[in-house]
Parts: sequence; structure tokens; C-alpha cells
Amino acid sequence: VRGIVFTILKSFGALKLLNRYKRKKNLTTVLCFHRVNYEIDPFFPSINPDVFHELLKYINDHFAVIHPSDIGKNIKTSKPKLVITFDDGYKDFICHALPVLEEFKMPCLHSIVYGCADKNNQIWTQRFWNTIKAYSRSDNDILSFSAYDKEYALSKDVDQLIKAFHPLFVLLLNTPKQERELFLQDFENKLQVIPDIESMMTWDDIQVCMAKGVEVASHTMTHDSLVSTTDRKELWFELNQSRIAISEKIGNEVNHFVFPNGENSSELRKMVYEAGYKYMHLLDDQLYDTTTQSNEISRISVYHTSLLENIFRVESFHNFVKSPYRRFFK
Ligand SMILES: [Zn+2]
Repeated sequence: VRGIVFTILKSFGALKLLNRYKRKKNLTTVLCFHRVNYEIDPFFPSINPDVFHELLKYINDHFAVIHPSDIGKNIKTSKPKLVITFDDGYKDFICHALPVLEEFKMPCLHSIVYGCADKNNQIWTQRFWNTIKAYSRSDNDILSFSAYDKEYALSKDVDQLIKAFHPLFVLLLNTPKQERELFLQDFENKLQVIPDIESMMTWDDIQVCMAKGVEVASHTMTHDSLVSTTDRKELWFELNQSRIAISEKIGNEVNHFVFPNGENSSELRKMVYEAGYKYMHLLDDQLYDTTTQSNEISRISVYHTSLLENIFRVESFHNFVKSPYRRFFK
């Protein structure tokens, strides 16, 4: 259906109108990517490298890709402006995304979790879904899983499994990190999952990216849920210490901060300024209004397996055509 809709929009010149609208209103499209690889993962989808290549080709034809640090500047371009960002520091960025970005000479921002780069720790959200994925692929007959005095149904059907485990995911999001870590270790042990220590970029990998024009942002120390952290000391550690520590490791200033899971509040945004960042990145699926000169950057999440679905998001059609199916994690 979307294919037909897109063809119609294209043939009626809707794309041209939309492009003119974005230029006139000085709206910048800021995209947020995560993983680019050939894995099939229904729980935390990756973009197929061939789809990624086609998508960047599309972006190259229809947008002017600008440097992340030029985001607030009033640069004149003949095409609508677009900024590319990546979150989390996955290693697949090096072999599947970086060569394509180089091919089209596109700069980008990549947000790094200090603890992940330093200790090769996988982000806990990824570990959680990996464990669920391992279960869905196993011959395990467990029909339910008990956690925090609640039973969770383990259906072999992927959509049902995601639905069943969503409340547990939210619960973990709101659980203090030490307690969450113990739970995850137990969960992994029960389903015999070994966290993949090869999946995150190391400091050496990050240097390779920087040499090729990638700007590094902070994505906190541990990718903890900031909105559910009440201890200000802990928050200051995640915000300020990550800027200082990443900056020391990479030998460069860190001016951008990216909220884990996009979660933020007015108090947190204030703290990010106080911690010395110039820009903070949200995940609200909106276009960034350059005229406001705001340092709070709206971003659009791009995560589909099909090229067309991704083009829909890049063109921000999702703001006009609401999808009944929304991902609950980013
Ligand atoms: Zn993240």
C-alpha cells in the first residue's frame, strides 16, 4: 500500500512541494540511525546495508547533507538540509555505514556510551532483546517466565512475544541500574545467552571514524534511563562525566549530547546545558526548525527493513500519514 501511495505522491509532485516547504520554513531533517547489518532481528531491527546504500543515494539526490555542527547555522542550500546521526556506537557502523557515508562524502554524528566503548559492554536494551530473541529461536518449552513477581508469556510468535515482554522492558527501564544488571545476568544465564563483546566500537574504532569525518557525541556513561534517575549526583555523572571522559579518550571536544532512548525532561535539558554541551538531541520524530536557533534538536528515527518505509520517514511523511504500528523502543 505504501509503495502505491509513494508512487502517487511522487507523480503528483508532492515530494517537490514538501521539499519547497522545508526550504521555505528552514526545516532541517535530522535522522537517527542505529544498526546497519545483514542480521534479521525483529526485536531491535537493523537496516540492511543494501537498503542503507539505496537510502543514502536517495538522500544525496534530494537533500543537502550538512555537518552536525552546522545545524544551527543559517547556511543557504539549494536542497532541504539534512543531518545524519547514529546512536550507541555499534561496530557494524565501521564496515556497513562508514564506507557508504564516505562514498557520498556525507559527514555524520555518532553518539558513544562511555562504558560500552571502554569495557566493550553491550547496551542493556540490546542484551534484553537478544535474550528474548535467543528464546524465540530455541527449542525451549518454557511457556512463561517469572520476573519481579509477575508471569510473562513466552510465545513463539514474534509480535506476541514483543507485546508480552514490553511491560518487563518498561519495568527494567525504571529499575536502578545495579538491580537491572543482576536481573539481566540472571535472565541471560537462564536462557544461556552470552553477551556479545564484539558488537560495540572500541576507542581505536572511534579514532578510525573520526579520521573519516565523524563527529563524536556523548550518549552518557551507561545508557541508563535518565528520567527515572532521581539522584542528581548520578545524573551529573551520566551527563558531565561522560563529556569529560569521552573528550579525554578521543582527544577532542564533545559538544553534542544524545538522550538515551530519547527520554528527557525540562530539568534534564537544563542540566545538559549546565554540563557544557552546545547541542542536545531528542528523538521526537519531528523536523528541526532552524529559525528557532534552539539547541534542542528534533530527530526522526529510521529503522525499517524496507527502503520505501525508510524513505517515508526521511521525507517525514509519518507526520502526515500516521502509522497504526509504532515502535515502542528506539
Ligand atoms: Zn541509545
